[in-house]
Amino acid sequence: MPSPTFPISRPSWEKTRNRRVSSHVNSELDTSLSTRYSTFKYMFGAYSEDDTTRMSHATKTIRQQLNYRPEIAGWFDETKTLFNQVVAFYFEVIEANPEVLNLDGNGPRDTLERLTHRTKTNPNPTMPLAAIADNLPALMRRTAIQTALGAAHAFHSNLARWHKEKEQALVKGKQFKKRPPAPPGRWNKSVTLYAGMWKQRTVTGILLKLWTGTSWCWVKVRIEGRGLPEDWEVKSPQLVQHGKRWWLHTFVEKNFSSPGKVEEQVTGTPEVRVCSVKLSVSEALAVCTIQAREGTALATRFIGGGRCLNGLRKSLLGRVARRRADTGVIAFGEADNAYLWARVRDLDEHMAHQVSRRIVEFAQANNASVLVFEHLPPRHPKKGTYSTRQNEKRAHWLRSRISRYSQYKAWEEGIVTCVVSPRDTSWECARCHARLARYSEGRVASGYTPGAPLVFCASCGMRGNADRNTSLNIGQKLFARYQQQEKPQARPLAGRLSKERGVPFPQAAESGERPRTEPAGHGEGDGHGTAQGRRHGVARL
Ligand SMILES: [Zn+2]
Repeated sequence: MPSPTFPISRPSWEKTRNRRVSSHVNSELDTSLSTRYSTFKYMFGAYSEDDTTRMSHATKTIRQQLNYRPEIAGWFDETKTLFNQVVAFYFEVIEANPEVLNLDGNGPRDTLERLTHRTKTNPNPTMPLAAIADNLPALMRRTAIQTALGAAHAFHSNLARWHKEKEQALVKGKQFKKRPPAPPGRWNKSVTLYAGMWKQRTVTGILLKLWTGTSWCWVKVRIEGRGLPEDWEVKSPQLVQHGKRWWLHTFVEKNFSSPGKVEEQVTGTPEVRVCSVKLSVSEALAVCTIQAREGTALATRFIGGGRCLNGLRKSLLGRVARRRADTGVIAFGEADNAYLWARVRDLDEHMAHQVSRRIVEFAQANNASVLVFEHLPPRHPKKGTYSTRQNEKRAHWLRSRISRYSQYKAWEEGIVTCVVSPRDTSWECARCHARLARYSEGRVASGYTPGAPLVFCASCGMRGNADRNTSLNIGQKLFARYQQQEKPQARPLAGRLSKERGVPFPQAAESGERPRTEPAGHGEGDGHGTAQGRRHGVARL
């Protein structure tokens, strides 16, 4: 193995590629979205902000299923195999000439082509590509070169890290047993199609240049699912195999002027509007309210469907439980009741997309520029039948999924998302911050029944929906975080600090302060696994 030279200066495309990869890895969206039952998927949302130009961008991958004659299914495999052979070949060429990795711009590509590609001016390349693949389209060759360069950079970075670790261990006199990274032994890269390898793309079809095993051939395939979004810059598509089917993944990017951080918006823009969202597991899955700085609630929206969803999900889970009881054993490492589980998964996935889209549409329609959620506390499982526990767990997962999806959907529209602590949000009156009575319809308005839909404030006479009240409190918490000194009347008894815990959103502020109306110790759960405050020690940080 040739010893590499460091540091490696990377060409610009490589930097871009790595940024995408890292956002891909960091985002949880990918794992939750990788079911292949829908034709249109966002694989990841990238969040980045360039402070110098004040431009931001959003990226996503549009996944569309391809529809083709069964006879040509093998051509996709052939194309991929050939592509990977060429990538492997170029990786070897790079390993034999590691100095190309230090070149800038198109240097690596040009050097590699000079070493391998036979032309009139370059009749005798040192390592001819023709030995592997003759008549390879130029654009396929270039894609393979870029892919191989990417893999080589990754490998050499790992190797450099290993050398450094080894050196440090030896300096300290420690034993170093970690094995060095190995170059890729098997290649399984998806084929990226540069323009020229595809043409005549419409909403429903595309012409692809595929390798049949003996020749290159233009093939028309149908595209299923939603088209590419407008106003987005479309990058080169990729052929990706999911199970037995081939899909077209298209990377799209949108640039927009930076909406600014939450703090800048809340403190700097007098007319800022905030959309606060209370996610619930009851009928109203989300309750959104629009609030202005002075605390006026401008609009409210209940996004329902929870009862129907919970009922349907529970019946599916009940069927799983009964079928499992009938079978008696579950084979280890084998998926049981695949069809039912797929339905459960699709149900939640569909609902999460639908609810999050509605949240964002509501925020947009009301010109809100900040979306605020409460930090979701960890779930504490309840007792009950299998289907009850599973259903409760999935309802909880759904809430976090809705907030994740809302976050990237909002970012695409230039709306930033943040979270506040859930402490006290459900039992405080949004108007006067006194302690509320929470009750069900037809019951006496006193005491606190977790999960009950109605609230009554004895000190100001406010009556209303419990989730809406919580939603208002969530929005007020965000304003209070930045305006504590300016608005003492909103929170009469100044008190201790309540710091936010690990905030999963990139735009979220690091910590918040807010005074309390009462001494700590009155937090109570609102049932359904949405319990907050003291009982689960959530905000006691
Ligand atoms: Zn009140």
